[in-house]
Amino acid sequence: MAERRIHVEVTADRQFGTNSYLVEDEDSRDAVVIDANLEPELMVDLVRSRGVTVRAILLTHTDIDHIAGLVRLRQELGDVPIAVHGSEREVITEGQPLRREFARPLPTFDNVGLLMPGEVYRAGTLEFDVLHTPGHSPGGVTLSIGNALFTGDALFAGSIGRSDFANSDGQALLEGIRERLMTQPDDRLVFSGHGPVSTIGQERRYNPFL
Ligand SMILES: [Zn+2]
Repeated sequence: MAERRIHVEVTADRQFGTNSYLVEDEDSRDAVVIDANLEPELMVDLVRSRGVTVRAILLTHTDIDHIAGLVRLRQELGDVPIAVHGSEREVITEGQPLRREFARPLPTFDNVGLLMPGEVYRAGTLEFDVLHTPGHSPGGVTLSIGNALFTGDALFAGSIGRSDFANSDGQALLEGIRERLMTQPDDRLVFSGHGPVSTIGQERRYNPFL
């Protein structure tokens, strides 16, 4: 099958600088949203201006700054599936906070599917490989499509995610990055949960945490 042409756009909220991505199939105009930052109206405007059809909302993990926009996105985009790793699914379906450090009531959602490591997640014509990159949180995943890796808060340009929360694991974080991200080709693009785009090659050479 021919490689699909993928187009990526980003919005970032002003409070945490959390990135939400719009990933489009340039031919079919199917799209997914990756993470739901604190300014979902930016993403809603972007979806409208790009004229794409959002088929799913994928979550790299469930820290509040990555899910706060879900209510608004669902209102505006319709009842599209939300997908998340199994170990954080109840954050979304039951409103159980991810962090005991930040316990507060959360909204609940239905139509929530699973991102299963080692398997493909299909949303319309888009197909994502799911890579487990835990450690910042138990269900942290990297979503891989075309030449793009969406690494959430595992790997950043020049840094890695926090692992000082009660349910973090610094060893697992480094292992996941080394085994599943640093084994990727140099030219693969790294779209992370915060900050600018990078490449695997750049992080291999310059990231002081690896
Ligand atoms: Zn974050």
